[in-house]
Amino acid sequence: MGLGVALEIARRFPRQRLLVLEKENGIARHQSGHNSGVIHSGVYYKPGSLKARLCVKGAAAMVEFCREHGIPHNVCGKVIVATRIEELSGLAELKNRGEANGLKGLRVISSEQLREIEPHATGLRALAVPSTGTTDYALVSEKYAELITANGGTVLSSAGVRGIMRKTNEIVVETPRGAFSTNFLINCAGLYSDRISRMAGDDPGMMIVPFRGEYYDLVPERAPLVRSLIYPVPDPRYPFLGVHFTRRVTGKVDAGPNAVLALAREGYRHSDINGHDIASLFSFPGFWRMAGQHWRNALSEWHRSISKAAFVQALQRLLPEINSTDLVPGTSGVRAQALKPNGSLADDFQFVPSGKVLHVINVPSPAATASLMIGKAVVDMAAESLGLS
Ligand SMILES: Cc1cc2nc3c(=O)[nH]c(=O)nc-3n(C[C@H](O)[C@H](O)[C@H](O)COP(=O)(O)OP(=O)(O)OC[C@H]3O[C@@H](n4cnc5c(N)ncnc54)[C@H](O)[C@@H]3O)c2cc1C
Repeated sequence: MGLGVALEIARRFPRQRLLVLEKENGIARHQSGHNSGVIHSGVYYKPGSLKARLCVKGAAAMVEFCREHGIPHNVCGKVIVATRIEELSGLAELKNRGEANGLKGLRVISSEQLREIEPHATGLRALAVPSTGTTDYALVSEKYAELITANGGTVLSSAGVRGIMRKTNEIVVETPRGAFSTNFLINCAGLYSDRISRMAGDDPGMMIVPFRGEYYDLVPERAPLVRSLIYPVPDPRYPFLGVHFTRRVTGKVDAGPNAVLALAREGYRHSDINGHDIASLFSFPGFWRMAGQHWRNALSEWHRSISKAAFVQALQRLLPEINSTDLVPGTSGVRAQALKPNGSLADDFQFVPSGKVLHVINVPSPAATASLMIGKAVVDMAAESLGLS
């Protein structure tokens, strides 16, 4: 997001001095480099929401960007498969949503038609979504950084923000690479966006909760079981899409991700535990409200996380031929999901202006897809509310 926003500033305001501060010693070391690489079509999101609007336009812009800059991508389409009778109404609802969001070519197909697209998948019916694609967002991020630098901006790594001082005519940002004075500050710190917001003296009114997504890889001999992307019908109560199969641009097929509460903001493994992160989560009233409402689902996600058999069982609903020996442990990523004090997960993207500072607080999936359009939306807002010109 930071790079997407900075690229838009560099293009629209070439005379502004622009600095991107990154705490790691390289870019895309967290969510943007640990995701499924899907260019989402926009079928899932509530019509009129920022997610819907920015994803549909963002997907087209992402495909165009990849084409223009020679980044591997593949508009392969996907199928969302209903495997239980009670999921059929959800499938019809997704088609309605997608059409309301302006998607073309959506088709509810029979199980026979599903087999023409994905010969090994089974289901009662499916929704074929032709505009979904895949790319590699780490490469996209690298290209954003390259273009920012070419347009006169600077991307400074190993420069984690440690303090923010708001003075009358300037904002001073402290990092291990020095203190920087600026007129405008845009916070796109992903898993730490709420903490950076507090560091700037603001109350984001939300807490970022880390949800780890774990993947298995299909062994290469079994990768031909999946031609493109096979998804379940998602549970509408959650912003996560359910474990699915993704054929990456490299040809590798992975299965996942699940959604398990991580015990550290950058908790990529079970053993990653951070006392400060846990304490701040447990002291947030919204956490206990969320836990009270969703503990059953949380337990079954944990079970699926520690039991390969349970993970495989979820996948077999989509692809019955899959078995445990076809899968080997893959990577993981951690989603930054904003939680409200009432215990609900923030559904839409959230951009919160405060004086000369703008906080990009909740940008979970499909934000990688929508990153060019989020960049435009955030810079529009910055131009208006921060007076950036
Ligand atoms: C498992 C998983 C699967 C996903 N699949 C998809 C998908 O298929 N398609 C899709 O569109 N989206 C997907 N997403 C969502 C997408 O990856 C994210 O929405 C997007 O990458 C968010 O970008 P970001 O810049 O906000 O966060 P990040 O990529 O995490 O970047 C935040 C940056 O801020 C830096 N930072 C943090 N604190 C500081 C500090 N104090 N000072 C300086 N820098 C700091 C971090 O080091 C990091 O580089 C997925 C996410 C996950 C985790």
